Amino acid sequence: MSEKPKHRVLTEYEAKQLLVKHKIPVTKEELAKNKEQAVKAAKKIGFPVVMKIVSPDIVHKTEAKGVIINIKTESEVEQAFEQLVKNARAYKRNAVINGVLVQETAIGKELIIGTSTDPQFGPVLMFGIGGIFVEVMKDVTFRVIPITKADAEEMLSELKSRSVLDGFRGEKPLNKNAIINILLKVSDFVEKNQKVRELDINPLFVNETEAKAADARIILE
Ligand code: ADP
Ligand code: MG
Repeated sequence: MSEKPKHRVLTEYEAKQLLVKHKIPVTKEELAKNKEQAVKAAKKIGFPVVMKIVSPDIVHKTEAKGVIINIKTESEVEQAFEQLVKNARAYKRNAVINGVLVQETAIGKELIIGTSTDPQFGPVLMFGIGGIFVEVMKDVTFRVIPITKADAEEMLSELKSRSVLDGFRGEKPLNKNAIINILLKVSDFVEKNQKVRELDINPLFVNETEAKAADARIILE
């Protein structure tokens, strides 16, 4: 007998609303149901914007050509809206589409924060620097949740690619306190919400002044 999986994957928009409730910073964004709403949102947020498909049937948006960045004008917003819906339909004919997310363009380095539930240790927190550092070098660090501030600081300092955080080639150092704060808040959020089976912030954008989640995925029990 096969059982339907009981877990539910939240859309990026839903997941980020949960993060905001727990004071984890996310990109400015609005869900648009049509082109007019999308244009209005883009003008409010400020160009250039990023636009993304919002569908419970599309978990990995890039795979469905569901992310368009660097949208600079009102007419580009209208075009992007149509294109995203078209791409989603081509990817999955019957996909439920909640709308299109219009989002500020985040600036900085891309980091990754994730949590999962280990059968032995329970909730575990993962941290790494996005791109080749995670994918090729597998340079990530883990802690059992809940973590302390000292744990969070160690997670940053024990990465092999930690020099990226200090800024190389004349770049300014990234705001490490902002990252540490978010690691602590994510730990706290997952500790207090036993229903969160998995959480992914990928990417977390960090620059010299701030850090914010540009994408989030949450799997509920
Ligand atoms: P996916 O569901 O495929 O993971 P993402 O929302 O992570 O989609 O977007 C894919 C990529 O687009 C990100 O890894 C990042 O490089 C870029 N991106 C996404 N959102 C933003 C944003 N608000 N500002 C700048 N770049 C972004
Ligand atoms: Mg992502």
